[in-house]
Amino acid sequence: MNPIALPPPTAADVAAAALRLQNVAHRTPVLRSGMADELLGAQVFFKCENLQRTGSFKFRGAYNALAQLDAAQRERGVLTFSAGNHAQAIALAARLLDIPALIVMPEDAAASKMAATRHYGAQVVTYNRFTEDREAISQHIAQERGMALVPPSEHAHVIAGQGTAALELLQEVPRLHYLFVAVGGGGLLAGSLLASQSAGSACEVYGVEPETANDAQQSLRSGQIVTIAQPRTIADGALTTALSPLAFEVIRRHADGIVTASDLHLVHALRFFAERMKIVVEPTGALAFAGARHGGVDLRGKRVGIIISGGNVDLARYARFLAD
Ligand SMILES: *Cc1c(COP(=O)(O)O)cnc(C)c1O
Repeated sequence: MNPIALPPPTAADVAAAALRLQNVAHRTPVLRSGMADELLGAQVFFKCENLQRTGSFKFRGAYNALAQLDAAQRERGVLTFSAGNHAQAIALAARLLDIPALIVMPEDAAASKMAATRHYGAQVVTYNRFTEDREAISQHIAQERGMALVPPSEHAHVIAGQGTAALELLQEVPRLHYLFVAVGGGGLLAGSLLASQSAGSACEVYGVEPETANDAQQSLRSGQIVTIAQPRTIADGALTTALSPLAFEVIRRHADGIVTASDLHLVHALRFFAERMKIVVEPTGALAFAGARHGGVDLRGKRVGIIISGGNVDLARYARFLAD
């Protein structure tokens, strides 16, 4: 579902997105941890997108897409569907650019994410993610109101924007051997692969999925998009059942591999981030680190980049993860 007929995203698009995001997105810090280095037997560099505006890298793709809409489209507004972080990202980007925004969200989305989306001034429409099709609902409203549909991954400008986090990391930390990023719809991984090209980096780029939602791993192995049943995992930002076709085209050609992490590994990672690094990370945001640590790739003696993709988590839920 590519709502606007855009050419596929390129490495040059990621570089252009980086310019567009200058002084709009935060240039997030790259943190180190002696303990992380010990655990992986490597030099580990954490790109902290949990400290990005709206609490995840999704702001990058959302702003990059909305900033390129024409005046007529800005007038009619934008619409998207999202379990949370893309919704907040679109809501803030729309507010900054003075564009009306409508978000289709699952009724069981994290309360903090729904509240934040409304707080940024977007209208929210809810649906049941086990019985209803969010893309059909979104398509219908978009057509009815003439709004531009900006989905979380299936959009060239979104993918290019997501790549700017990896681009900053690769520019700041030279000669990375490996980069690990979380995979849901595949926008972040596809963008990161293009960023690696843009930076002229020889870095191997791996995606990390929840063990129970390994559709991208299956897709990469089989060479075509595999759709799985609605998964259950604490990584609520990676509940997608299939990769976006646009992202898959990039992933299929350039990704070095996809590994998985269990929910228990995610909980251990959340505790590590809280206890050792003093940062709040959401379960999906911990995927990359958990995958680097437990995904079976031999990282000993290497320089390893990890994108911490987000930090939006209900406090009560977060407290349970830390206490259990
Ligand atoms: C959306 C999201 C992901 C997955 O990104 P995709 O582009 O959908 O693959 C990972 N982590 C967080 C925190 C997210 O919000």
